[in-house]
Amino acid sequence: MEIAHLSSISHRILVVGSSNTDMVVKTKTLPRPGETVLGGAFLMNAGGKGANQAVAAARLGGEISFICKTGRDIFGQQAVQLFQNEGIDTSYIFTDPDHPSGVALITVDEQAENCIAVASGSNAHLTPADIISVESAIDEAGYVLMQLEIPMETVEYVADAAYGKGKKVILNPAPAQTLSNTLLSRLYAITPNETEAAIISGVAIVDEPTAIEAARTIAERGVPHVIITLGAQGALIYSGGQATLIPAPKVEAVDTTAAGDVFNGAFTLALSEGADLVEAVRFACKAAAISVTRIGAQASAPYRYELTE
Ligand code: ADP
Repeated sequence: MEIAHLSSISHRILVVGSSNTDMVVKTKTLPRPGETVLGGAFLMNAGGKGANQAVAAARLGGEISFICKTGRDIFGQQAVQLFQNEGIDTSYIFTDPDHPSGVALITVDEQAENCIAVASGSNAHLTPADIISVESAIDEAGYVLMQLEIPMETVEYVADAAYGKGKKVILNPAPAQTLSNTLLSRLYAITPNETEAAIISGVAIVDEPTAIEAARTIAERGVPHVIITLGAQGALIYSGGQATLIPAPKVEAVDTTAAGDVFNGAFTLALSEGADLVEAVRFACKAAAISVTRIGAQASAPYRYELTE
């Protein structure tokens, strides 16, 4: 009976999170308050941590459903079209009649320094009531992947419902926020970067021992598997009282935007295929390393064949 139950775990990944449109203007210098600078190129890119992670997992071969909320506007329509082109199940995506789609207005200067203003728009109105109306999406999935660009009460509701149904919940706690013990106790794995891990644990991370200390502190609050991403140094796994450092492949990084998103999409995808924790983090480091060699957020996410080459 036990084996039959295990083998019936769905490979499907449900991502619940944000979708934004990033509007980027490249300028010589960043405008100061009150200043107008005539810029160079304008780029419009699909973004939002939820969407980025859903696309990353889909490109690596995952069966992905995505729950998000877009506005009733051209940005939302374009985003949904892109998700469909990536093979993502969009049947649970909500359209908000009252709020516009999320946008990020980004100025980038010649030194790659940036200045970003985000209007969350409809992302801030994805509610627990919405999730209740599509609860079968949770039933169909084996894994649920979330971030923190939607309301905390929605993240908490999904984590609780998914945990109650025996699903494995993975939380990428970005952007950084403190988290309740109840939420942490519903997670299978949490994947903060150093900043986020420091805020959740209260431990300042300056080296490997302090990273381990932060991971242990988070684990003691009820998460079985803590993975702290360490940029070019790779990722630290803390599980069963043991710490394992997985080094990142050495690459020539040109743009680290969405490195964490590719890491999370790839990590969850590998788990859904039955990889163990170390294998999944190795796979995620490989995928994220490819993404930092290319410009863009969703655009930089690698396809499966690139990881087997
Ligand atoms: P975030 O992008 O969320 O701040 P990190 O900077 O920790 O997160 O990066 C996430 C993952 O991306 C890292 O664990 C690593 O695997 C990969 N990565 C990031 N920067 C580099 C780099 N310069 N070289 C190789 N891999 C990288």
